[in-house]
Amino acid sequence: MPQSQSESLPQVSAETQRYDEIPFFNCGDLCTVVTLKSAAFMSAPRAFDFHCHSLFSDGSLAPFELLMLAKERGVELMAITDHDTVNGYSQTLQTQAVELGLELISGCEISCQWQRRGIHVVGLNMNLNDPGFRQAMQAQGQARLSRAESITAVLQRLGFEVELTQVQSLAGNGTIGRPHFARHLVDTGQMSSMSTAFKRVLGSGKPGDIKANWPTLETAIAWITGAGGVAVLAHPLKYKMTITKLRSLLADFVQAGGQGIEVVTGHQEPSKVRTLMDLALRYDLYASAGSDFHHPGQPWAALGQAQSLPNSCQPVWEHWS
Ligand SMILES: [Zn+2]
Ligand SMILES: [Zn+2]
Repeated sequence: MPQSQSESLPQVSAETQRYDEIPFFNCGDLCTVVTLKSAAFMSAPRAFDFHCHSLFSDGSLAPFELLMLAKERGVELMAITDHDTVNGYSQTLQTQAVELGLELISGCEISCQWQRRGIHVVGLNMNLNDPGFRQAMQAQGQARLSRAESITAVLQRLGFEVELTQVQSLAGNGTIGRPHFARHLVDTGQMSSMSTAFKRVLGSGKPGDIKANWPTLETAIAWITGAGGVAVLAHPLKYKMTITKLRSLLADFVQAGGQGIEVVTGHQEPSKVRTLMDLALRYDLYASAGSDFHHPGQPWAALGQAQSLPNSCQPVWEHWS
């Protein structure tokens, strides 16, 4: 159940931290990385959000609009974690964040697979100019494009009128996903609604549910850590695994160099937060929190308004502070 704003802002323990060296980055032509001295974080951030999406993937706000909303919600430290792309980050955005008094770190939600299941790993605080990471982002973009081509071919075989360019124009700057295909089918009168499109052709187990050729969990973690970032297992309870399976995933995750887990994701029941906190402690993982915000008006994923991290957890920003 949504909480009142004052209750729901993530609060952190009173431990005093120094945040006078938070790395910044830019993705401009010069591709330099600078470290900014900031007086803003002499103590732990009052509110933070390490998981949200812009229109560079499947969110609906531009990165700057995300910053504005975050500022409005009292967020002090954040990352934008678009799916398989960091194209939302730019020198301009970095400057805008500084002007707003927000500490913006780099972020990305990487799609990968573990035991043939789709898993999301959030990378935080990478050097976006790392050549290996840049190559990885290109590979992810290519994997998404190949998948979109395959979905187009399947839909055409089924008799639908669809061209990849039409779906690409719906995606704009963002990465193409199945919702864009559903949108095209609805816009052109070939399906009555998005949900019908998913139920008939694009949903799980349907012909258009093409699996992309995602990297392994180990590879995704290596991309993140190779660029100096911390790899965080995203929304661990969304995979609907048994606790035994989830422990097995976490054992492999840690073995591969993963160091964090989302203990708070959106508005969660307290029992789920406890389960995830226990896992964080058991596997000695940093705890992260994020809304998984995509669109305004989704109260279960309101930007900057995830619950507090339990005091016993070690917050993920301590990794780079
Ligand atoms: Zn995800
Ligand atoms: Zn997400």
